[in-house]
Amino acid sequence: MENTTYEYNKTLLGTTVSLTLLEPNETVAKIVFKTISMLEDKLTVNRQLSEVMSVNLAAGKHPVIVSQVVFSLIEQAYKVSLIPNNCFNLAIGPLVKLWKIGFKGHQVPNDEQIKQQLLLTKPEDIELNSAIQSVFLKKEGMEIDLGAIAKGYIADITKIILCKHNIHQAIINLGGNVLTIGQSLLSEDGYWHVGLRKPFSFNNELVGIFNVNNKSVVTSGIYERFFIQNNRLYHHIFNPTTGYPLDNELESVTIISNTSLEGDIYSTILYGLGIERSKKFLQKHQNISAIFLLKNKTIALVNHENISFKLLDKQYLISYY
Ligand code: ADP
Ligand code: MG
Repeated sequence: MENTTYEYNKTLLGTTVSLTLLEPNETVAKIVFKTISMLEDKLTVNRQLSEVMSVNLAAGKHPVIVSQVVFSLIEQAYKVSLIPNNCFNLAIGPLVKLWKIGFKGHQVPNDEQIKQQLLLTKPEDIELNSAIQSVFLKKEGMEIDLGAIAKGYIADITKIILCKHNIHQAIINLGGNVLTIGQSLLSEDGYWHVGLRKPFSFNNELVGIFNVNNKSVVTSGIYERFFIQNNRLYHHIFNPTTGYPLDNELESVTIISNTSLEGDIYSTILYGLGIERSKKFLQKHQNISAIFLLKNKTIALVNHENISFKLLDKQYLISYY
């Protein structure tokens, strides 16, 4: 059995991006990394210049015409943000910038500051014009933040590039967003084996490992970027109603879906819904599976596609739905 892989790594998107191929192909790896870097340049809000930043800097002033690739992602994020009773909000930028979680100068802001920023986080105050691909943030100080979904969007584009180059078996990992393409030749069962990280473990310990083929695996967790102050943990996924990090029984949500963009959207939405409402939600979404890690060390696996999960950490208890 073939068991050699060729791995290409590059620091991009604030993480290590890795591409695993079954045959060496330096040329394709370069094309993939160049495309990711080009997309990052357009979508980032962590630098002064990007297409999204030019929209943000024109808030309250005028609409900005963006490229098709940027408009398409903003439009999809906007539509999701308008779904009632869900925590996903692309206009969350002012809160992200206020708390600075995961960046230098992070802080617990005072209530007045949070109240002020909440006024600037209404997706209804975004105006899109698809005829000319323009985006207008109606109030000064508003900011679009695509941090929750940019990686998924980029991962899906990467898959298209690989297919165009006739690569039909690969893994792309954008740090938290894993996309498996085709069948694995590495295991007897033909599945890719994906590890589920143990929250807050610093030496890459795994809670378990599971099998997927041709699927995206995306995790949103409270341990990715956080800080602790006065014994409280503040992490980087916000409740757009309160302006504070979302607080519930979950440590992480992993979504197994066809596209990485869906994975990104649903991992954030379900994290916000909490375990019980998520289970109900998933009854109506049979095309996605989810693995929830709870703070009380239980794993809830909503398994719609016969994913076989192997528990490695015996501290955890697993239940299937
Ligand atoms: P990671 O960056 O660890 O992959 P996520 O995909 O869960 O994490 O996205 C977290 C990022 O999404 C935050 O850093 C922030 O930029 C943005 N964000 C935070 N809260 C929300 C929210 N309620 N809706 C949409 N995006 C959010
Ligand atoms: Mg995400």
